Amino acid sequence: MEEYLPDIYQKSIYTIDYAKLFNRGIKCLLFDLDNTIVPPYSNELSKKTKDLFTSLKQKGFKIIIFTNSPQIRLKKFKSFFAVDGVSSAFKPFTGKLKKLLKEYGYTEAEVAIIGDQLMTDIKVGNKVGITTILVNPVSKSDFVLTKIHRFSERRKMKKLRDHDLFWQGRYYD
Ligand SMILES: [Mg+2]
Repeated sequence: MEEYLPDIYQKSIYTIDYAKLFNRGIKCLLFDLDNTIVPPYSNELSKKTKDLFTSLKQKGFKIIIFTNSPQIRLKKFKSFFAVDGVSSAFKPFTGKLKKLLKEYGYTEAEVAIIGDQLMTDIKVGNKVGITTILVNPVSKSDFVLTKIHRFSERRKMKKLRDHDLFWQGRYYD
């Protein structure tokens, strides 16, 4: 059950205490794309997000978009935000994440994943042993596969709640 429990839970990518992460030794931030940065199906290029990424880069973080969406969807965000990206990440399978750590030369302790889904973002991060950060989805709409994941997610959340480990809206870091 703990494989679904995020290390940190925040309202959005804008409420995360990045200075604290930096002080804990995090050097690389993996951002999920859909419903973490932008609504699914949306191509909105947000200046607010770009400004956040720019300031995080200036603080010394490596920013990588780590998405299950294909390259054709990722590439415009990658170039607009001027960050690295990995598409078709197949979260919650660990292959691409392990490969990323190896290629960029980061240890598990130096990387955090930020995403809106327990069943993909949090699970893959916990399996590999990096820091996991859950944020609320930015919209109510979901891709079809995500809708199926949300069904399991609600059951996991209930289980975590029954053990008093996780409550929606009770943020922590
Ligand atoms: Mg997502």
